[in-house]
Amino acid sequence: MFETYSKKEVLSKLETSLSGLKTYEVNKRLKQNGYNELVQGKKITFLKRFYLQIKSPLIIILLIASIISFILKEFFDASMILFIVIVNAIVGIIQEKKAEDSINSLKKMSSPHCNVLRDNMLKTITSRELVKGDIVILKAGDIVPADLYILEAHNLSVDESLLTGESTLVHKKEDVIATKNNKITECHNLLFMTTAIMSGTGKGVVIKVGMETEVGKIASIIQKEKNETPLAIRLNKLGKILGLLVILICILIFICGVAQNIDVIEMILTSISLAVAAIPEGLPAIVTIVLALGTLRIARVKAIVRRMSSVESLGTVNIVCSDKTGTITENELKVSDIFYKDRKLKINSKQEELINKTISICNESYVDEKGEIIGNAVDVCLMKYLNDNKYDLDRNIKIINKNPFSSQTKIASVIVQEQQKNVEYIKGAFEKIIMMCTHMANYKNLSISECQKLALEGKRIISLAIKNENQIIYVGTVAMQDRPRKGVKESINTFKKAGVDTIMITGDHLNTAYSIAKEVGITNDINECITGKDLDLLSDEELFKKINNIKVYSRVSPKDKVRIIEALRKSGKVVAMTGDGVNDAPSLKCADIGIAMGKNGTDVAKEASDIVLMDDHFSTIEKAIEEGRTIFENIKKATIFLLSSNFGEIFLMFISIALGLPMPLVAVAILWVNLLTDILPAIALGVDQKDPEIMSKPPRKVSESLFSHGGIKKSLLYGMVIGLISFIAYIIYPISKYGLNIDTIRNLKNLLNQDGILPICRTLSFSTLCLSQLIHMIGVSLGNNSLLKIFKNKNTLIYI
Ligand code: ADP
Ligand code: MG
Repeated sequence: MFETYSKKEVLSKLETSLSGLKTYEVNKRLKQNGYNELVQGKKITFLKRFYLQIKSPLIIILLIASIISFILKEFFDASMILFIVIVNAIVGIIQEKKAEDSINSLKKMSSPHCNVLRDNMLKTITSRELVKGDIVILKAGDIVPADLYILEAHNLSVDESLLTGESTLVHKKEDVIATKNNKITECHNLLFMTTAIMSGTGKGVVIKVGMETEVGKIASIIQKEKNETPLAIRLNKLGKILGLLVILICILIFICGVAQNIDVIEMILTSISLAVAAIPEGLPAIVTIVLALGTLRIARVKAIVRRMSSVESLGTVNIVCSDKTGTITENELKVSDIFYKDRKLKINSKQEELINKTISICNESYVDEKGEIIGNAVDVCLMKYLNDNKYDLDRNIKIINKNPFSSQTKIASVIVQEQQKNVEYIKGAFEKIIMMCTHMANYKNLSISECQKLALEGKRIISLAIKNENQIIYVGTVAMQDRPRKGVKESINTFKKAGVDTIMITGDHLNTAYSIAKEVGITNDINECITGKDLDLLSDEELFKKINNIKVYSRVSPKDKVRIIEALRKSGKVVAMTGDGVNDAPSLKCADIGIAMGKNGTDVAKEASDIVLMDDHFSTIEKAIEEGRTIFENIKKATIFLLSSNFGEIFLMFISIALGLPMPLVAVAILWVNLLTDILPAIALGVDQKDPEIMSKPPRKVSESLFSHGGIKKSLLYGMVIGLISFIAYIIYPISKYGLNIDTIRNLKNLLNQDGILPICRTLSFSTLCLSQLIHMIGVSLGNNSLLKIFKNKNTLIYI
């Protein structure tokens, strides 16, 4: 209905104004209508969780077994089994909940924000606090935070594919009032929640929030992301194979047992328990839990994981492609030089006035409620420069149109009306501006070479011009210094040792890029740098051939980034790639790991990424990769531990029964071992400390499974040792009593079955099994390290 109204009507209907709502009004509306959220499914209740835990076929068989023992009046066994099933389920629920909470808290940390006008002041709020009538300011890269009616639009284009399935951009305009028959999504004066602004700027008033919005109506259709990671899926398969194997062994043990006249019911119980204990059905769950807890670890080093599967791939990254501005450099630009033809000539006051006017008009920064200047780094820097020089901004200029900065064109401009004429104030990359100026024939080359010289000092250069009718007049040039961040050089060095290459991809000039790249140790050779123009000249094959020798890409546009990544991936690299702009979304998706900037990145880039850097800092990538490697190592440890412990139990049971001895472990004991010395220690190993040497090794190969480097052999071997030790413990008592000789061995069965002997032997065997598994855990945790390391891991220490 709003689409058919004029701006005035919309504002009065919503009881708001262009200066925004008053705070008390906002609070009232929030109370009345609730938060601007898309409500997702119902909460899972505790009972439901419990049901999900015990619904596995194995547990159900176990429960049936418990009922049978109950009927047979084996009350102790029955209640013990029940008890262990319940404790098992509760442990599962707690772990799962912990993992879920960690993911939810991360989601909150990266929740979207938007800029609104309230009490006639610009504020940044989380999008869920929006109410109807709020005035929202939008720019390229924002995700529309609610359904809006457009009050102002400059060059505004939107990607509505999420809503309509249509991938072509829609151009939105103010003052095109829709008719009643227009389909809602065809209204050009509306913006819809969750769609992405791809270019331009605008202003809108909130007409609908939360579930009332167009996307809210279909929210239930939008599928939730599944949390199954590739690793968990692979382990699921492995678990099934091993499970079948275990069932076969259990059946074999059952037959052997029955053949030896062991009580059938006891045999059923034991075989089922053994199956429950030995089938690694918990493995995928443990992996998922460890990955989820891993995301929390990574959050601690200031990187937010948006897709859990990327934690797995982090450890395989062997090339990092990074933005320059803000990631490798501080992004705190400072004006270092202002000049006209060259630096030696002092600019006169008239020229200075023109320069100041151009950078003040053609500027997209704004002042927020705290009085801080925010916006893109160049504009903020220039505005601060004007403030420092006490330049009086002319607030009465009449803006006709704006062409906001785009990293595709590398130019920004604003058209204003002056004395009945339209005048365009332009600023952008120096060579682009200087080339388009119409009146500087005699000093074009001089100015360009001056700029190039400055760029070699690592400075970012921006030239200014004014277009008046058909003349484009050169105004001047500003150079800005942006220092490399602390720690970047060290991180790049660490990466070198860790077999990870660093590549710089930037929109800046070749000279600027090279100078910074040299300073942080990416390259020492200008021949390893290439410009976007030269890149265009290369065919895909030529690029493929050269790709390993290029360390710096300069003056590239976002579409070049996709090409670079594709070439790198084709050459067998696993690529992590940073991005911040709207147009970086395709390359972020294309990379194996897309990394968005949390501070200065756009919402669109964040949405397309796997990981968000909260501090935009290059060194954070290093820490995240280190954590990623550690997490994989830990999952490996947990898996090997779990499998070898299971093998150990089976082995112990198998030898005993094959030798015709009574079972060393009763059902309850097996279940007990399964819970206390298998699953819990495995999780502890999953969150083990990192190996200090981890970044001195090359990255893991993508094809490397959890069991490469002899993982299966190791688990079998460890399992056999554990089984053997426990078996020796099982028979050590009669042997020590009657001496180690042929007779004792032959008579073992009878000796064990003597009054009062069996419980002692079982206890010995059980304790030995538990103990050896725990010692095994320490061994696995240590890997090749010294014993002292265990004292550093609280989780494994608890078990000692
Ligand atoms: P980067 O890849 O380093 O982030 P950008 O795409 O942001 O590079 O910028 C590329 C070039 O565009 C810069 O070298 C500069 O000349 C120009 N530029 C950057 N920001 C602005 C702006 N706000 N207005 C005009 N020109 C800009
Ligand atoms: Mg950029």
